Amino acid sequence: MRYAETGFNLEIDLSTGNIERVPSDPQDTELYLGGVGTNYKILWDRVPPEIEPFSADNIIIFSAGLLGGTMAPGANRTIITSISPQTLFTGFSILGGYWAPQLKYAGFDKIIVRGKSPDLVYIWIDNDKVEIRDASHLKGKSTYETTRLIREELDQPYPEVLAIGLAGENRVYFASVESATSSASRLGMGAIMGDKNLKAIAVRGTKDINIARPEVFMDQCNKVLDYIQYRLENPIPGVPAILSFIGSPQEMALHDEKWHTISFSWGNARIRRKDFWNEEVAREWEQTMESARKKLISCYNCPVRCRAIVQVPGYPSYTMKCFSKLTYVMAAMADDLDFGFKIASIAQSHGVDGFTAPQVMAFAVELYEAGVLTEEDLPGFPSENRERFYYLLDKIVKREGIGDVLADGVYWAARKIGKGAEAYDHNTIKKHEQIPIKLGMLNPIYYIMWSTGEKANITQIEGQLPQAPLPKDIREEFVKDWIQIPTGKEEKFKKFILEWGEEGKTFPFWPPPDLICELVEWQENMHYIDDSLGLCAGLSSFPLKPPYHMHNLPVLVSAGAGIEMDEDRLWETSIRVRNLVRASNVRRGMRRKDDKPPEDHWKKRFPDYEAKLLDEYYSYRGWNKEGIPTKQTLQKLGLDFVYEDFVKRGILEE
Ligand code: SF4
Repeated sequence: MRYAETGFNLEIDLSTGNIERVPSDPQDTELYLGGVGTNYKILWDRVPPEIEPFSADNIIIFSAGLLGGTMAPGANRTIITSISPQTLFTGFSILGGYWAPQLKYAGFDKIIVRGKSPDLVYIWIDNDKVEIRDASHLKGKSTYETTRLIREELDQPYPEVLAIGLAGENRVYFASVESATSSASRLGMGAIMGDKNLKAIAVRGTKDINIARPEVFMDQCNKVLDYIQYRLENPIPGVPAILSFIGSPQEMALHDEKWHTISFSWGNARIRRKDFWNEEVAREWEQTMESARKKLISCYNCPVRCRAIVQVPGYPSYTMKCFSKLTYVMAAMADDLDFGFKIASIAQSHGVDGFTAPQVMAFAVELYEAGVLTEEDLPGFPSENRERFYYLLDKIVKREGIGDVLADGVYWAARKIGKGAEAYDHNTIKKHEQIPIKLGMLNPIYYIMWSTGEKANITQIEGQLPQAPLPKDIREEFVKDWIQIPTGKEEKFKKFILEWGEEGKTFPFWPPPDLICELVEWQENMHYIDDSLGLCAGLSSFPLKPPYHMHNLPVLVSAGAGIEMDEDRLWETSIRVRNLVRASNVRRGMRRKDDKPPEDHWKKRFPDYEAKLLDEYYSYRGWNKEGIPTKQTLQKLGLDFVYEDFVKRGILEE
C-alpha cells in the first residue's frame, strides 16, 4: 500500500487523445518525495534539452505534493512544471487553493500532459473517469467565466478548476494558470497550456488518502495548528507589521503598507518613494481596502486566511492573492489603491502574472516617455498612467500591435524594439521580471539567493531570516524561542542575529562567506522541502518563525508517507532535489553567466567580492566554477544518471 501519495499518475497525450493511469515508482518518492522533486525527475527523463517550450514534445506536469490533501495544515499546493517560454530553462510555478487535494482524492498524484490538441479542450477528472472535452465554447472566455461555465456544465458539487484566460490562449510568455482562489503565475505555465490548446482542467475526487501511522501524524498536525494559533496571537515584536505574522504574508488582512510602499521601487522598478506613507494615505487605503475586501478566505485546510474576496463596483469579483494588491498601483505610480483592485480584477480575468505584467507595462510607459516608443507604436495612447495601464494590458493579452512584442516580457521585448530599449531591461533575472525592490548596500545573502535561485518568485526564496538587523532590544527575545533552526546550527545562527548590526558586523563583508552559504542553504532547502511535500511556503519556508521546520517535518513524512525519515535524510533529500533542478537547467545551458541579480539592484556593488561569493557558494554546494554540480556531488546524491548524461553531452569530463 502507498501512504500519503496515491501511487498513480494520469498521463494524457493531447495529440492522440490517449489517457492512461500509470503507477509511479515508490523509489522515486524515497529519493525526491513528490511535487517539484518528482516533477523534475520526470522532466529530466522525458524532456531532453533540445525540446523547445512550444513543442508538442514538451510536457506540463500538474502535481500535488507528497503530503497534499492530507490533514497536514496547508498541504494544498499544486506544483506546475514545464519549460518556460520566457527563460527557456525549466520552470516551476505554484498555487494554493483546493485543486491539488481534489486531485489526490480523485486518486492521482500528478497529471502529465504532452502533445497538442488540434482544438481547444478541457480535461475533466471525476475520480477514475477521465475525459478530454470540447472547449470551443470557452474560447476567449475569462478565467472566471471559464470556471463558472465548466462548473455549470459538469453539474457536480464544486469541481476544482485550473483555467487560462486570453493571455494563455495567446501564449503570452507571462500567462498564469488560475483557480478560483489561487494562481500559478510565474514563468508562463499558462502559455504552455495555451500552446497545447488546453483551456482548463477540472477535477473532483471522493477517495481517501492512506496514512502510515495516523495517530502520530494527527498529533503532529495538531501541534502545527496550535503553533499557528499561537503565532497569530503573538506577532513578532520589533519587525514591520507585514513580517510579524505568518502566512503569505497576510497581505489582505493588514492595512499597514508602509514597509512595501517605501522600501520597494515604483514605476519600472526605478523610483523609491521614501516619504509616500503618511497618515492620510494610511486612512484612505484602509477605507478602500475595507470597502473592496468582502471576506478573508483560506486555502484548503489552513486557518490563516491570507486571501480575500474583492469586489469593486462594475468589476468582476475575484480572489486577490498576495502582493498583486500593490504591484499594479506601484508600477503605474498611481497613488490610489482602488486602481490596483480594479486592474487586478481584469488582469486575473485574462490570466497574467501579477508581478511581471505591471513591470512590463511600466517598462512600456518608460520607453514612451523616453521617445523609444512613439505614437506610431501606441496609437491613441492615453496621457494618464492608469488609463495607459488598461490600454497596455488589453493590447498585451490580445497580442495586438505593440502588445505582441510586450507579451514576451521585458527582456525579449527590449531586444525586439531595439533603439536603446535594452537599457530599460534592468530588473530581470534569467530573462524574467523580478520584484521591484532596489536597495543601497549589497546584501551578500540575498546576492547569492537572487543570483542562483531557481524558484522564480524571489519573494518565495526569502525566508526565515530577518532582512535587516533586528533592533538591539529585541534580539535576545527573538533568539530565545527560535526553535526552527536546523540541528547543529543553533549556536552560530543565533550568534549571527545577536551580533548583526554591531560595529564591524554589517553587510557586505560580514558575516564570513561560509556562514553566508549556510544561511542561504537553510533557506533554499526549506523551499525545496515545501515544494516537494506540497506545503504552503507561508507556513514554512517564507516567514519568520513558521510552524513547520526541520524538526517536525521528518516526523510528518515518516508518519504520513511511511518513509523512514530523519532530519539528516530530509536535508539530503532537499539537496538532491536542489541539484536535480540545477542540473536540469545546466543541461539547457545555464551557467555562471546567468547567475546574477538585476544590474542595479543594489547601488553599492563589489564585483570582485561578488565573484568570490559565487565561488564560495558553488564550492559549498559541490559545484564547479561554472555552477555545474560535480561528479562527486552527483554521485553522493545518487544522481549518477545526471553525471552520465553530462559526460555524454560534454558538460563534464569523465
Ligand atoms: S498560509 Fe495563507 S496562502 Fe498559505 S495555505 Fe494558509 S491561507 Fe493559503
